[in-house]
Amino acid sequence: MTLAQTYGTSAAARPVPGSSPMTTQILVVEDEQDIAGLIKHTLEREPGIRVEMVNSGDAALKAVAESAPHLIILDLNLPVLSGFEVCRILRSRPATRLIPIIMLTARTTEVDRVSGLDLGADDYVTKPFSLRELAARVRAVLRRPQATQAQEPAAMVYRGAHLTADFDAVAIEVDGAPVRLTRREFELLKCLVENRNRVLSRDRLLERVWGYDRTIETRSVDVHIGRLRAKLVLAGDQIETVVGLGYRFVE
Ligand code: CA
Repeated sequence: MTLAQTYGTSAAARPVPGSSPMTTQILVVEDEQDIAGLIKHTLEREPGIRVEMVNSGDAALKAVAESAPHLIILDLNLPVLSGFEVCRILRSRPATRLIPIIMLTARTTEVDRVSGLDLGADDYVTKPFSLRELAARVRAVLRRPQATQAQEPAAMVYRGAHLTADFDAVAIEVDGAPVRLTRREFELLKCLVENRNRVLSRDRLLERVWGYDRTIETRSVDVHIGRLRAKLVLAGDQIETVVGLGYRFVE
């Protein structure tokens, strides 16, 4: 069976209802050129859709920085920087936070699916997929009103055995006693809790908490984590050091 048969190239993309007369830019991030080419071929049958292909996460971040697409189709399994990492980085940056992402993956476990959606992917397609199905998902995502995409996430309150953290009210308590955190410590805790049970590298924490200030060294993360742990007393144990990787907030 050829790739074209597997992925069903006969399925043409239909017009996107409600799309503007302007060109809709779609970025396909996929290291398997055959698959990327088929996706491009299928989606570009629709007038007004232009598909750019890149074959790595690095190239994707560069392409998005140069010209933000209306939608990104992102393969999970990429060399070096994984699709998850790319998604996480895009979602952490204000300029790219709202770009819709459809994740492609060969993995079918629920865990991967949930992780993909948790990271802010708008939809998820498991390989081998039909191009008809992918085109339908693309249309559905592009049809979503901007207002929905622009909504702020719901109020976030974490309640653990010792720690209660209301991140909207900026109120942190351990066993009922208020804890005063610096802004960085607060942001660090928020980032760890938002990504709980996942390992965050020092670089990722630097980017999320300190932004683009490259004068900060990764060692500062360790220092701030140390202070944060001390202030959180018993709840501080929930911040685990993952040797060689970074930190994880465990529930
Ligand atoms: Ca791939």
